[in-house]
Amino acid sequence: MKIKNFFVRVITLLMVIVNMSDFDEYVALRNDDVPLIKKDDLPVEFSNKAYETIVDFIEKTRNLDYEWVIYFDYVTGEILKSAKGDVDNVKICIGKDEFKGNHVASIHNHPKNILSPPSGRNFGILVRDFEDYELIAGFDYFWILKAKGMHKNLYFQVNHVSEIAYRSSFEYCCNRYANNKIIGKMHDIRYGSELQKFINDKNINDIQLTKKEYVAMTTNSKTIEYKCRKRITDPDAIRLAREREADPNVLSGKDLMYSLYKSLGIDVDYDEIFAD
Ligand SMILES: [Zn+2]
Repeated sequence: MKIKNFFVRVITLLMVIVNMSDFDEYVALRNDDVPLIKKDDLPVEFSNKAYETIVDFIEKTRNLDYEWVIYFDYVTGEILKSAKGDVDNVKICIGKDEFKGNHVASIHNHPKNILSPPSGRNFGILVRDFEDYELIAGFDYFWILKAKGMHKNLYFQVNHVSEIAYRSSFEYCCNRYANNKIIGKMHDIRYGSELQKFINDKNINDIQLTKKEYVAMTTNSKTIEYKCRKRITDPDAIRLAREREADPNVLSGKDLMYSLYKSLGIDVDYDEIFAD
């Protein structure tokens, strides 16, 4: 019994040491070649470094069927904290003043079977003072919720609105479309625009909900080809060129150049071409 207990302790200790933190696991996720958002899609306050952090997040999580969330600094791009969730949910615990002095934004992914727009709960940012932006890498669309400061009343309202919009837009789509895939796609669009309309019509400077499309971008290296002109040294080619230049019945290279300049509206004297 004693020996067994000893081994249990050793194994437990080893598991604690070997056990990767969520952050290590996040870093180790592979990057897939997936459609991305453009730097211009982000608020101007977001730096290039922050864009790289976001691109990395989209590439890592796009093909997962569970959620991740990272908190990051949208000026330095530094990842502040990360957590792994499940199919439709991710939790992260943040201490009071934990991100003091940072420009805080979060991003979480909505897997394929989750609507891309924010859920009612995703508006919790409205009652979190330290967080300025919440980004959602949804499967169909990318969402940006700007929410600076505290907006308690709006949080309660939008929670209510999102619940009703979620149901009513679904009913609307079910009555209108027969194909389940189209219902899913249109539900995503209708529910999202209902939320946008409600929030953006409030016209509060610090609150804005925007939706962005993904575009295919090759993040891998590109091959650029330089095709360069060879010197002509073949005696026959040289002889032919001389004959053409001298033949009054054939447009010479000089004639071609002259007519090109004329067609481009460039005023040039014939004798100025290839002037010595
Ligand atoms: Zn969410």
